[in-house]
Amino acid sequence: MTVQLTKQESFSQDISIDMLQKYDVSGPRYTSYPTADRFVEAFTEADYIQALEQRRDRNAGSPLSIYVHIPFCDSLCFYCACNKIVTKHHERSREYLEYLRHEVDLHTAHLGKGQTISQLHLGGGTPTFFSDDELTELMDMLKRSFNFVSGGEYSIEVDPRTVDEKRLAHLAKLGFNRLSFGVQDFDEDVQKAVHRVQPHEQVFELVAQARALKFDSINVDLIYGLPKQTPASFNRTLQLIGELKPDRIALYAYAHLPERFKPQRRIHAEDLPAAGEKVSMLSNAIAHFLSVDYVYVGMDHFALPNDPLAVAKRQGRLHRNFQGYSTQPDCDLIALGVSAIGRVGGTYSQNAKTLEDYYDSLRQGKMPIVRGIALSKDDMVRRAVIMALMCQGELLFESIELAYLIDFKQYFANELNSLNALQDEGMLEIDEQGIHISSRGWFFVRAIAMKFDRYLLTDQNRARFSKII
Ligand code: SF4
Repeated sequence: MTVQLTKQESFSQDISIDMLQKYDVSGPRYTSYPTADRFVEAFTEADYIQALEQRRDRNAGSPLSIYVHIPFCDSLCFYCACNKIVTKHHERSREYLEYLRHEVDLHTAHLGKGQTISQLHLGGGTPTFFSDDELTELMDMLKRSFNFVSGGEYSIEVDPRTVDEKRLAHLAKLGFNRLSFGVQDFDEDVQKAVHRVQPHEQVFELVAQARALKFDSINVDLIYGLPKQTPASFNRTLQLIGELKPDRIALYAYAHLPERFKPQRRIHAEDLPAAGEKVSMLSNAIAHFLSVDYVYVGMDHFALPNDPLAVAKRQGRLHRNFQGYSTQPDCDLIALGVSAIGRVGGTYSQNAKTLEDYYDSLRQGKMPIVRGIALSKDDMVRRAVIMALMCQGELLFESIELAYLIDFKQYFANELNSLNALQDEGMLEIDEQGIHISSRGWFFVRAIAMKFDRYLLTDQNRARFSKII
């Protein structure tokens, strides 16, 4: 069964505000399974090196993905939950670049030079905190060490306040073919309340320039649930986004967790929209995007029908990684930079979270790995199940049984039972062949995936995760 929902009518018939409210429970976003909060310090640099060397010995030729985390930002957005360093000292980039160079060298020492790369993502922080020269140096360094294939996905997160047409042209020249603009909301009061003022005219101009420069895909990030936002004000932003027509839209819920994220303490709780208003904003956003022809790709993501992500969705070729949905087949991910998370073979690992620790390890010639996890067989099976549900909207028992030599119905008897209530709600259908998520269920796919998360089954701490929608 293909999950497809392309028009507002289907949305309003299928999903009510009551349902959005009912399934607004806490849950992970499954950019990995197990999720990063399950990583352990017992996983060390030696485990990571072993995974890299096993890859070198086994997988010669299969493409790699690279993520580079650039932590610096010029100014602080109050909603921020990222690992970043706010500074006006741009000279700090140079030092960071040198340490990235050490980290790349350590990788090529264990993997060999010239590994094929089909996907690169620069995230942060603010990658465009780097000057054009520093970005050139970074790309030259990566290109000297790895072999970037043509036709790959090379993307960078762009803070609209840090670029102009000349800088965008430079990014195109360096080989980036995808841009992701952080917009969040166009409303001036909201922008002031979160300390991120960027007039919509500026974003419209940059997107027009990026199109003229022939970037393959332009993404815009939005957030609902921010201070001073109301359903009416957010509708105006939605209208503008409909006019801007980016190829992709990522729509995230703001989770107010000031005890965990210090910048959020600058947000006045009384300015936050009520839970009901938040659900209205989500409902309006979904309805609006569908009415202006976007396809709901899956959790948080929309794309124009011809965008490769929407095409991959139609053809059942979606994948999921730390950046969300992707068209690139599952591949190992080398993560570079402070706090970056990578995936190699059956392992996930994370770099040191502070610059001090990150630099310190590299100065000693050591990989800056501080925690991670080696997946057990059960983790692997569950990861395959969760990713199939979240990417294809369907799980065929036989495919899991053949790949992992289990009897699916026996192995997951409790989990299948727990899906009955969701089946009664019309979210999915279970038959002899497998689990088929309905167009309604696709909006709550995270709630379905969570039924297969072994760690959550016994976990009392669900509140740590952001709201499900
Ligand atoms: S939201 Fe982005 S630009 Fe703003 S402080 Fe956080 S990482 Fe920096």
